[in-house]
Amino acid sequence: MAVDRSLQDRRVDAEFLLLPDRKVQITFVDDHTKPIPPAEQVVTVTTGERSAPLKLVFVKTDSAFVSEQSVPAGNKFPVVVQIKANPESKTLVEKFTLDLSTCSGCGLAEYACTCAEGH
Ligand SMILES: [Zn+2]
Repeated sequence: MAVDRSLQDRRVDAEFLLLPDRKVQITFVDDHTKPIPPAEQVVTVTTGERSAPLKLVFVKTDSAFVSEQSVPAGNKFPVVVQIKANPESKTLVEKFTLDLSTCSGCGLAEYACTCAEGH
């Protein structure tokens, strides 16, 4: 079971994961949720307090994009993820709340809760 959040549209499948050091990892996956090594995708995440939003800059690793900065301490920050499949493509925008409370139903963090998906 993945403890991340799926971001999907017709062209882009990606998974959002908050790492233990509170950096954000974005992993692109294929139709079978198999990770795809980073290529020409462009990733931007904005989060933190509404009064002082933090724009995270991403660097490529062998398997994913990882933010250079960490998400500030706290909970229930609004998150805006912007992803482009390549520099020329349309931007996919996904907004959600980074709720790190544990769901009583599935035991995952609320932001990655799978209950609504019928697990
Ligand atoms: Zn749940």
